[in-house]
Amino acid sequence: MAIQFDPNVVCSCGKVHKTMVEHRLVKNGAINEIPEYVKMYGAKKAFIVADMNTYPIAGEKVKNALEAAGIACVTYIFPDKRVIPNEKTVGGAVMAYNKSCDIVIGVGSGVINDACKILANVAGVPYFIVATAAYMDGYASGSSSMEVNGVKVTIPAKSPEVIVGDIDVLNGAPTFMAKAGLGDMLAKYVSICEWRLSNLINGEYYCEDVAQFTRDTLKNCVDNAAGLLKRDDVAMEALFNALIDCGAAMDYAGCSRPGGGLEHYFCFVLDMRGLEFGTPTSSHGMQVLLGTLYAVKAFNEVKNIAPNREKALEFVKNFDFEEWSRQLREFIGQSAEPMIKLEAKEKKYDPEKHAKRLEVILEKWDDILRIIDEEIPSVEEFEAILDAIEAPKSIEAIGVEPELVPMIFKCTKDFRDKYVLPRLLWDLGVLDEVCEKVF
Ligand SMILES: [Zn+2]
Ligand SMILES: [Zn+2]
Repeated sequence: MAIQFDPNVVCSCGKVHKTMVEHRLVKNGAINEIPEYVKMYGAKKAFIVADMNTYPIAGEKVKNALEAAGIACVTYIFPDKRVIPNEKTVGGAVMAYNKSCDIVIGVGSGVINDACKILANVAGVPYFIVATAAYMDGYASGSSSMEVNGVKVTIPAKSPEVIVGDIDVLNGAPTFMAKAGLGDMLAKYVSICEWRLSNLINGEYYCEDVAQFTRDTLKNCVDNAAGLLKRDDVAMEALFNALIDCGAAMDYAGCSRPGGGLEHYFCFVLDMRGLEFGTPTSSHGMQVLLGTLYAVKAFNEVKNIAPNREKALEFVKNFDFEEWSRQLREFIGQSAEPMIKLEAKEKKYDPEKHAKRLEVILEKWDDILRIIDEEIPSVEEFEAILDAIEAPKSIEAIGVEPELVPMIFKCTKDFRDKYVLPRLLWDLGVLDEVCEKVF
């Protein structure tokens, strides 16, 4: 039985677990039920936002359903062939927004949702998202991933009150999108494992109920994964619900720990390089899927490590932060600056702090191995899931040279103030050798 969170009860972890998403409509023909929900929110005039692809697929159906129910609509369709999450896109939607509208309905996926969350937040009206593909877990999140002045940032916005996943629409999307969606889900093997490890090593907040909720939803979607290629309705429903659940899990926990770890940073490093140098990128979920594959490989190597205090201390003594900063700048360009600045605040490379962490790691080594064993599938098990959906097993498939994997993997430890596997390997003084051996 799936865990249910009561927003009026304090969990044993000390937090009250709640999400801002009030309703989800996940079923065949869900679009026909939208007018009922719009009326429930007291709205009389909808501002529908779509792009040239999503309008014919679903936007028009939404508009027709609303107008048939006597709800007026203003429609804005992004004029660009490829909509980019930047100032221009948000600005275009804001300038087209009609003050007499009292609800925003986004029709699309990542970028449209990100732009509409900002618009609805600024306009101060309820927000519905009508998904056109099950390809990432950001539907429920209260923030928007944007590019401002060419740099990737996260902007606080608002969560949708209602998420609509019409299975007929979702199963009409190309299967590569469902593969990407599953990729974003598979990340949860890594995220839950790293969350537990940081709880053990650093005493970071952790909630077993939220972790178990995430594991259950991941399992349900992996059990159904093979059906995605056949466009099976049950498989699509499991995937889309899982993606909403995992967005909600981050709300429950009040942090991104349940949703992502190093594999998401792996994806962001590829995005940053793409922005800076025009190198190849792929969808969020596909990059996360590949990042998860490399993370699973590295995690499976941990059991072959014999922790050694002297070796770890010697490694840290010889670590040259200036040289590492230079490599970061060279590899990801201007996006490296906030990562380098973060160290001044965080001091993760400080020898004294390292020595303290190292003692905990050595003392709790058996627990670390047990957690990895409990959370991370074997490489064979993981690759079997990828085979079931005919997903790639090398970064080469998205046009990135496999020789870059070690450096991408190492960059992930500097991305945010989050204890991820490459940090544990650095703490043990084995980061370089594990990269060399595994990738
Ligand atoms: Zn809890
Ligand atoms: Zn994601």
